[in-house]
Order: sequence, then structure tokens, then C-alpha cells
Amino acid sequence: MDIFIKIYIVIFIGLNSLMLYYDGKKIYKSHKEKKERLKNSMENIEKQKQSLIKSFSRGIIKPNKKIVAHFSKEENEKFENILEKLKTENNKIYIFIQSMINIMPKESLIKFMDKVEDISIEYHSFKEAENNRGVITTGTYIPMKNQIKIYSDKNEVLYHELLHVASSNNEYNMVGFSTTFKKAGLFCNGLNEGYTELLNQRLFQSKTEGYIYLTYLALELENFYENKEDMMKDYFNNDIFSLIDELKKSMTLEEAVSIIANMDLFLNQTDVSFLDFLKLRQKIISIYERRYIQNEKTLVKKIINRN
Ligand SMILES: [Zn+2]
Repeated sequence: MDIFIKIYIVIFIGLNSLMLYYDGKKIYKSHKEKKERLKNSMENIEKQKQSLIKSFSRGIIKPNKKIVAHFSKEENEKFENILEKLKTENNKIYIFIQSMINIMPKESLIKFMDKVEDISIEYHSFKEAENNRGVITTGTYIPMKNQIKIYSDKNEVLYHELLHVASSNNEYNMVGFSTTFKKAGLFCNGLNEGYTELLNQRLFQSKTEGYIYLTYLALELENFYENKEDMMKDYFNNDIFSLIDELKKSMTLEEAVSIIANMDLFLNQTDVSFLDFLKLRQKIISIYERRYIQNEKTLVKKIINRN
């Protein structure tokens, strides 16, 4: 072989190995950073859990909620007026409300109509959407400003954000199940996103790809409710305490807090793996099965005692 060709081959192999080395180093670095972020988040969650368990075991005194079965004459007139206005000014919100009339608790619907009156919706191009380590945010709702920002022309993105509007309590800075505790900080944002997306898909046949893991996990948790509509009521009433009470019928308080806290990790899908999702899903399913077996045992005992 010619000496020049030999040198060329050596240089070629050398360069290739060098490139492979740098690529490998880059991948390893990003993998290490990902692991580090996940470890920090998990440590924070552990600290958060202790304080949350204290809050939930103490419980809160719930005010007797007035259940408004019908709109008053005044409310009805106001409702009709806003609806009529929306029909011509914003057909998309009009369609959204039409679907929600029989679903939302009346009190939440009235609050929602108040917010809709002065809501601002900003449309942006997809290119302007925020890209956080590969996760693209196509819509946001900012409760304090009563403002929606949309980076997609798909209706489902708007409906997802409108569900946040409908389930938010701006006075207490709560959105659906997502609640900020004094000591523990923001909690249940993961389940809130998953459940919002679940409703979006169920009510508006939306085919979105956001929060896939969280939507599946929310669906698993919904199974613990005897009546699925009760979960929807708790969501619109921002009643995370009722949600925990419902879960406590089938699991310990620690288990309930731990599942919800771990779901918060899935808000950034790039940090968690499919395996992490399967593990958490399996944990929920095994608790569900445990409850089922316990119920069966009690039933058998009852039958034996009766005989
Ligand atoms: Zn959302």
C-alpha cells in the first residue's frame, strides 16, 4: 500500500474516533445533567411531601357550599347577554361554553362568564413558542392577567387553555387541582395538566400530543372515584382536599401524596423516561387491585357471617 494512502487512512480513522469521542462526551454530559435535574427534583419532592402530609392530615374546615341548582333571573339574563355577544364576537368560546353548560357546576360557570367578559387572547406563530429543552409550549393561561397566549392554530390548544380559565380561582391563585401551599410550594400541577388534557380529549374529541404520560396517569387516578363526575366537580371547585379524601378511601395518605408529587416530575417529559412512567402507572394499578381484593374479602366475610 502506498505510504500516502496509509497516512490518509490513519488520519481518517483518527478523526472519526475523535468525532465519536466528542459526540459521546456530549451525549453523556446531557444524560448526566438530566439525571442530576431529576435527582434534585426528587429530593425537593421528598422535602415537600412531609409538609404536605401534615397539611392534608390536619384537613381544613370547608365552608358549606351553596349549591345553586338554577341561575337566578338576573344571572340568567347576564348569561344570555354574554352568550349572545360571544356568538358573533368569538365563536370558538361560544362553542366551548355550549359544551360546558351541563357539565360545569353552576357557580363555576358564573365565575367563568365573569372572566370571559374581559379575557384577552393573544395569538402568536408557532415559531415564537417557548422551547424548554425540547418541550414546546403551545399555549398558556396567566390567571393574574386573565390572559391566554396561543402559539398554534389548533382549536384543541385553545380549549385546553379555556379549561384552565374555567377551573381557575384567581382570588386564591389556584388552577384546577394545582395549588400553592405556604411551606410546600406548588403542588399537583402534573395531575392538573393531565386531567385538563383528559377532559379536553373527552369533551372536544381533541387529538393533542401534549402531556401524554400525565393524561394516562390522570385516567388511572380517576378510576378511584366511585362517580367520575365527582372528580370533575372537585377540579372546577379547586378542591384538592376532596380529591385526597377520595383517594384515601383506597390508599394511605402517604401513598396519595407520593403519587401526585411524583406526577409533578412528568411536567418536564424530557427528564423522565418511559420506564419511569410505567413504574408509576404500575404502582397506581397495584393499589387499585389491592383495593379490589380487599373489597372481595369483605364481601366473602359478609356472606360467611350471614350463613
Ligand atoms: Zn395546561
